Amino acid sequence: MEIITGKSSFFLLINPWITDFAAYDLWSRPLALLYLASLLRDAGHGVFLLNCLDHTEDAGTVNKHARPVRRKFGTGKFIRTEIEKPWALERIPRKYCRYGMLSETFRKKLTGLPGPDVILITSTMTYWYPGIRQAAEIVREVFPDSPIILGGSYARLCHEHALGLPEIDFVFPGKIADFPSFLNEKLGMELANSHSWKHFSRYPFPAFDLWEPRPLEAVTIMTSEGCPFTCPYCASTVLHPGFTKRSPGDVFMEIEYWHEKFGVEDFAFYDDALLVDNRNHLLPVLSKVRDAGLRVRFHTPNAVHVRELSEEVCEALKASGFETLRLGLETAIVSRAAQRDNKVKSGEFSRAMKNLLKAGFSPDQIGVYLLCGLPNQDPSEVEYSINIVKECGGSPYLAEYSPIPRTEMWHEAVRVSPFPIEKEPLFHNNTLFPCRSHRFPVSELERLKQLARRARSLAGHQKPGENDPEIR
Ligand code: SF4
Repeated sequence: MEIITGKSSFFLLINPWITDFAAYDLWSRPLALLYLASLLRDAGHGVFLLNCLDHTEDAGTVNKHARPVRRKFGTGKFIRTEIEKPWALERIPRKYCRYGMLSETFRKKLTGLPGPDVILITSTMTYWYPGIRQAAEIVREVFPDSPIILGGSYARLCHEHALGLPEIDFVFPGKIADFPSFLNEKLGMELANSHSWKHFSRYPFPAFDLWEPRPLEAVTIMTSEGCPFTCPYCASTVLHPGFTKRSPGDVFMEIEYWHEKFGVEDFAFYDDALLVDNRNHLLPVLSKVRDAGLRVRFHTPNAVHVRELSEEVCEALKASGFETLRLGLETAIVSRAAQRDNKVKSGEFSRAMKNLLKAGFSPDQIGVYLLCGLPNQDPSEVEYSINIVKECGGSPYLAEYSPIPRTEMWHEAVRVSPFPIEKEPLFHNNTLFPCRSHRFPVSELERLKQLARRARSLAGHQKPGENDPEIR
């Protein structure tokens, strides 16, 4: 393999297909890859971003059942192609699909490009690796001599497994800040701006200007990296140790930039702890947005912390254009919540709901995530939580537990799961209900999903029986 020196190089960055039983575009954007693109560009290199999930590609050619229905605020469906189920999922009586552009289109796009010096593929859910493998196989056929590096969450959480993917040359197990030294070590390549990679708070804006589809429907934005909490089921502290905030002025400039230059109206926050220290962080951003008169809408697909929803915060959210709110309640049984995390104390949830409703949010705007299928969980706990959310005027969403390697709860999940989750990431798929038990079988999950759907329907959110995009 040729060693790359200090000259300007060409990087091909790929957001691969999703392979699963269901997938929904809830502002899903590979933000780390977009940051990488902007940092590489700042270092003077050529960058091309290829988004396999571009829902506009092939929309006119696939049959009508596979056509992606788009919904408001830049969300919607992807194009899908039914593919053979991997062995581990053979018994699931549902169609298994590859989400994103057709493979012929992907190949055609690749063949139109000059040979890259480096190819970077990102990854998210651990059990979506078949989509990465399929993309890498085509990439390898088209560019037999270009080194392929795999990064992202799967590469970090299942590093050993990822090393076994045949077409991948290198698996990058670190965070963005570690990438320059990795590139130097593996390919002998030095990045002129390696110091700029060290501090998240000083990164250039992510390269949404290279993103397709166009026009930009929505932009995802991170005002902080990491989370000060350490919930045992969550990978935040593993993937982003520490908690770093950008300055409110910088966040505002980013919102203004995408709005003014690209006409973006919808912004989805990707923060894990958006409301923490809000008086010094988010509230100043929102006040700048209001002062500037920007006509924008905000969404929080990642749950915000219930404890922080004071009257003042709820009023500011409403006045600044928040449209979609997701709250992290996880469980309404306070003693259980205290065992798992320290996010919600008794009375905080009902107070938060009162404040949100008083500020003018409608129940269908307030989605509340409830964890479902945790190791040793009793279904009655979830049912109780659904009822609490309903009584308080919110819309319950079941977040089906997917075991994540390297989290605190992982070992308990390995112990109780009837599947060999330690050996095979496909068994992490929440459609499988990986930590099912005699006490909490799949039939109970289905019953609870119905209850949650009915509660959302009462809140005016969905028709009963309509598939819930957020669950999967
Ligand atoms: S508060 Fe949310 S992001 Fe933070 S550790 Fe807990 S689940 Fe993860």
